[in-house]
Amino acid sequence: MKSAEIREKFLKFFESKGHQIVASSSLVPANDPTLMFTNSGMVQFKDVFLGTDKRPYNRATSVQACLRAGGKHNDLESVGYTARHHTFFEMLGNWSFGDYFKKESLQWGWELLTQVYGLPPERLLATVYHEDDEAYDIWTKIIGLPPERVIRIGDNKGGKYKSDNFWMMADTGPCGPCSEIFYDHGPHIPGGPPGSPDEDGDRFIEIWNHVFMQFEMHEDGSVTKLPAPCVDTGMGLERVAAILQGVHSNYKIDLFQALIQAAARETGVPYSQDVPSLKVIADHIRACAFLIADGVIPSNEGRGYVLRRIIRRGIRHGYKLGQKQPFFYKLVPDLVREMGGAYRHLAEQEAHITETLKAEEERFFETLWKGMLVLTTSIAAKYAEKQNIKNLVPYPIRYPNYSFEYYVGDLDGNQVDFAHIESSTPDRDLEAAKNVNKLNKPKRPLYSSIRGCPKFESNDPNTCIHSVPVILPGDVAFKLHDTYGFPLDLTQDVCRERDVTVDVAGFDAAMQQQKDAARAAGKFKMDKLLEYEGEAGVFTGYEEMAHDACRV
Ligand code: ATP
Ligand code: MG
Ligand code: MG
Ligand code: MG
Repeated sequence: MKSAEIREKFLKFFESKGHQIVASSSLVPANDPTLMFTNSGMVQFKDVFLGTDKRPYNRATSVQACLRAGGKHNDLESVGYTARHHTFFEMLGNWSFGDYFKKESLQWGWELLTQVYGLPPERLLATVYHEDDEAYDIWTKIIGLPPERVIRIGDNKGGKYKSDNFWMMADTGPCGPCSEIFYDHGPHIPGGPPGSPDEDGDRFIEIWNHVFMQFEMHEDGSVTKLPAPCVDTGMGLERVAAILQGVHSNYKIDLFQALIQAAARETGVPYSQDVPSLKVIADHIRACAFLIADGVIPSNEGRGYVLRRIIRRGIRHGYKLGQKQPFFYKLVPDLVREMGGAYRHLAEQEAHITETLKAEEERFFETLWKGMLVLTTSIAAKYAEKQNIKNLVPYPIRYPNYSFEYYVGDLDGNQVDFAHIESSTPDRDLEAAKNVNKLNKPKRPLYSSIRGCPKFESNDPNTCIHSVPVILPGDVAFKLHDTYGFPLDLTQDVCRERDVTVDVAGFDAAMQQQKDAARAAGKFKMDKLLEYEGEAGVFTGYEEMAHDACRV
């Protein structure tokens, strides 16, 4: 069943149960300045639940565009790593504003899943809040789910596992238990059932959350009953589509095929559904295009900064695959072809989206390779410091296109790190790089020993796994942020691939220091203050080299 049909069947089903079909609202919440992005279907109905807005209907259904990046719900770090998380996704939902309650909601949910969508009932299981006997009885006695497949979940006060079946709109206000429906993708996939220690795996995938707002939380922590309980549900379209299309990963569904193909085409790598960077690019183009269509533009703060972070992250993954020119914007027509039918405003804004992305890419491609060089050499320097490796030298290798490479190694030809450098003037940059360490002649060329290098364990040429834990200093992360436009999460993303962690506290401190200094000294002295100093006793030639190369 195609995604379009899944959307349509959902809306039709709830329409037949007396629900008003409501259009998806903007990713920028209209009625909630405290919320960065629309992260679920209920956002546009928040005031209805709070009683400050009234609608001419008391049952509603929608397919809502959602974004979970930045703010309270942030799934950015999971993208490319789990089978089920996106930044942008579509949430199918149904609502009762003081009308029907648990029994109807769960029964209809079951009916839709098993009869309309035809999911095998024996693969489904449900969770309920541990004190919610009402929901437990509906599942076991009315719907007839075997008790061993209905799992009671606590409210996680002890923080034992992640699962938590008590929903709160905020610290005060409407709240209540929820019941979630999971699908078991089978024992060949790692992961345990909800509430178990390895519940975070991808075997049992949560598909549908039914929230029962029946209480109001007060400032003193006391809870009273709401006069008219409400229902708020949300189901991820991509997750149901994966099940209905017989695949495990969301990234293998129809909606993503064309996008992953386009990402492969534009980065010049063979098409594969399993290359994490292609998945990241396919995910990020959706988030970025939809954000721009809703009026967000890349900037250095707030929503615009989240957009900038996602764009740059997407570009970096293209760069990792060897793409050295702006490419991300070229995926827009593919996306519009895929989703412009369901989201007209996306199609209408195609030119604006393309131009905005292109401009941002052109900007970032100027500093990306320089930042990558600083990052790689800083990691190498840290690693060398830990291993007591003296006299790091670069081993630059020129390739017959726009690229050259630095293998950072010691004088015995041991590789310490690696950087693939894209540059529009590679010959000059390579010469600049060679000149830095003229005196240090390696005993043998590193390149011949790369394959045999014990520290070079990965087949991915952008990755060098170090044999001791390395932490990237916070001031380097800050410099990357400040001088090369590397958002912190981008630096973390690169580091994660190399098994390196980032000193986030140090980053924050450097950021704070800059703010304080700016306040004290006025903006004019900023450049001076930000001059980077290499650490005493540790190789800093690459820093200088990077700067030299940057200047050409
Ligand atoms: P998970 O535990 O898998 O992260 P969640 O509990 O955070 O999901 P909810 O907040 O309950 O998700 O949202 C309702 C539904 O929206 C989920 O059951 C799931 O189907 C879908 N969903 C949530 N987050 C994402 C995401 N990042 N990408 C795709 N679908 C999502
Ligand atoms: Mg989540
Ligand atoms: Mg969950
Ligand atoms: Mg949930």
